[in-house]
Amino acid sequence: MRDPLAGLRLMRTVERPPQVFVRGQGSWLWDADGRAYLDFTQGWAVNSLGHSPGVVVEALKRQAEALINPGPAFYNRGMLKLASRLCQASGSDQVYFLNSGAEANEGAIKLARKWGQLHRGGAYGIVTAGNSFHGRTLATMSASGKPAFQALFEPKVPGFTKVPFNDLDALHAAVDDSVVAVMLEPVQGEAGVIPATLEYLQGAERLCRERGVLLILDEVQTGIGRCGALLAEDLYGVRADIITLGKGLGGGVPLAALLARGNACCFEPGEQGGTYHGNALMTAAGLAVLNTVLEPGFLEQVRDVAQHLREGLARVARRHGHGPLRGHGLLIGMPLIEQRADAVVRAALDEGLLINGLASDCLRFSPALTVSHANVDEMLKRLNRAFALARGKHKEPA
Ligand code: PLP
Repeated sequence: MRDPLAGLRLMRTVERPPQVFVRGQGSWLWDADGRAYLDFTQGWAVNSLGHSPGVVVEALKRQAEALINPGPAFYNRGMLKLASRLCQASGSDQVYFLNSGAEANEGAIKLARKWGQLHRGGAYGIVTAGNSFHGRTLATMSASGKPAFQALFEPKVPGFTKVPFNDLDALHAAVDDSVVAVMLEPVQGEAGVIPATLEYLQGAERLCRERGVLLILDEVQTGIGRCGALLAEDLYGVRADIITLGKGLGGGVPLAALLARGNACCFEPGEQGGTYHGNALMTAAGLAVLNTVLEPGFLEQVRDVAQHLREGLARVARRHGHGPLRGHGLLIGMPLIEQRADAVVRAALDEGLLINGLASDCLRFSPALTVSHANVDEMLKRLNRAFALARGKHKEPA
């Protein structure tokens, strides 16, 4: 960083490495010194089509010249087109657009509580599971089980019960008359890329139907092709009442969506809002992303490169004594044995590779959906070197 003091002007909410990134293309990023980095984080899975993809750049340019934001109280074309395409492709009845995954989940909680007033005698309890992560608003932090959140910003928003993940008996025991919804991630990304088992997610759906409560799926990380299907619920053969999307939907720009089905579509005018919600610029980007992901063959290609990545990562994991791998599609976690994730992430950065380390000592790989076999092969070479480098650096003196 040319002026280290500039970094001190930013609130210290995250430890950042010194690199300042100035340009991106596909799976590559360049810093201000012209050094190239292979990016297998893609902004924590937001750049679904990689950095500055042509279709998104063009859509943004065209839309910025025509109209940026007429305001949420008026229709714009992007909002209408994206709503129809998203509802049609996901089999949903209504959608509401927002700016972030946390906001979408906050909206899902409010929508479920509104439904509880109409259909469940005012019940408002929401059951969440394991070390879930649903965002950083106060309500979504209260819903989350992420251990680092537990002592922060007390008191929490009331009405959330937490049970162990992938434990159907615990879920059965928790859903009583005070509960209006069960809210789950199909794959717990932040917790260490832990997928729901098929039996668990299908069992959760059955339980919700039997008890007359809503199933909310937080697909902020797993949706829009990340797991090799448009939605992860498709992989599991499950149908939620409410689904939240974010991250990959905007292809890097802030866009999220709250999808609802059947009588969960119960918001009335005045019950949800936001000045940027559904703005023409972001929905134009979202439409460009969704149209690309829905092109014939796109998801097959995601599954193909995901298979290549998984096989390669399994080889690297075996060689360095790590694993077994977890996850679906292009959302893969590699648990580390006797090696710290932060050390490997730092060594990878030295090797010109961006990967994400989770506190559970797990590496997370979430490359662009457009990542190539050649990008994967190059990443594996750099990762091998990073493992060796990290071991060397952190070896205890004899
Ligand atoms: N839900 C899940 C499953 C996530 O992974 C995230 C972000 O990582 C969020 C919600 C919050 O999304 P945002 O950071 O856009 O608010």
